[in-house]
Amino acid sequence: MSIIRRYSFEAAHKLDWHPGKCRSLHGHSYVLEVEVTGPVGEHGVVMDFAELDTVVEECVVSRLDHTYLNDLLDNPTAELVASAVGGWLDEAAIGWSVLRLWETERGSVVVRRTG
Ligand SMILES: [Zn+2]
Repeated sequence: MSIIRRYSFEAAHKLDWHPGKCRSLHGHSYVLEVEVTGPVGEHGVVMDFAELDTVVEECVVSRLDHTYLNDLLDNPTAELVASAVGGWLDEAAIGWSVLRLWETERGSVVVRRTG
């Protein structure tokens, strides 16, 4: 079974390689969905939402909220931000199965853990 929890943060970036308007400095209200998959444990949950919140707030949201993403990543596309998020959650030993990062209302990227 899986649980999915949603988080949000605001951040600015620019994409130097982009031929269009994404080359200019601009910001997004990002929405991050973290899915954790596993057995339903003795308390009847896969993972306590509050426990997940603590880690995601500390390791991801506080790191990205109201930042300039180019200070953290050379090329902060949604794909590469999501990838970095996966690495930080790995370091925090969160057994995520899927990450979805919404950059705009219509556009998101999905990272599925393999292996
Ligand atoms: Zn953008």
